[in-house]
Amino acid sequence: MCTRCISPAAVGPTLSRRSFCQATAVLGALATRPAVAAEGLLEPTLRLRGPATPGTKRVALTLDACPGGFDRRIASYLADDGVPATIFLTSAWIRRNPAGLAFLLDHRDLFAFENHGGRHLPPVLGDRSIYGLRAAGTLDAIRREVETGAADIRRATGTQTRWYRGATGLYSPAAIKAIEAMGFGIGGYSLNADMGASLPAATVASRVEAARDGDVIVCHLTQPKRPSGLGIVAGVKALRLQGTVFTHLDAPAA
Ligand SMILES: [Zn+2]
Repeated sequence: MCTRCISPAAVGPTLSRRSFCQATAVLGALATRPAVAAEGLLEPTLRLRGPATPGTKRVALTLDACPGGFDRRIASYLADDGVPATIFLTSAWIRRNPAGLAFLLDHRDLFAFENHGGRHLPPVLGDRSIYGLRAAGTLDAIRREVETGAADIRRATGTQTRWYRGATGLYSPAAIKAIEAMGFGIGGYSLNADMGASLPAATVASRVEAARDGDVIVCHLTQPKRPSGLGIVAGVKALRLQGTVFTHLDAPAA
């Protein structure tokens, strides 16, 4: 689950876990713009870097593999049409979805892998819950969450991850510093496409189709029975008809 796309003002204990997961985040090979969320938490924004090419729209599609299932509808479409995407993996998803992982690895020319944590614990300090998820709580626990995710992804895919996206997309300020000190960029986003896979397909398609040049789009790979996944497919198809170029995330800023 990710909190991206959720309005900072909406962040609070009354939000459902589902709503929470639907938010989007994006940081990226891009210019980072810290957005201030409620309760002292940050929801970083990530956009693609680099000068725009006149007449060309360039976006990065990122899919979170939170603990959950495998939406083969999305993955198969991306593979069939040759659309690059970045998958933010959790250790929990890797354990639960061996067939899904095998599919992604069969198309690794298209799919890049980044780190969504070991247990999907929000990188937030204190004894609290964020959108129904128990926060990691301490800097040591946050580092373990990041390290565990990175190690499991390395074992499963051979990839040394460079970006970390926290569960819920919200961070304590000190957590961001600690994660960056570990050598990771913060995997924000600029367009939350599916709000935790909670939106109707047509709404998701419209949101994706409205992507602007440089957007980092966040959505979910974990809800194969919800209509939102079909909206991702429809939205990406529409962008491709516009001539949009899909890329992986840039390298984190040094
Ligand atoms: Zn997540």
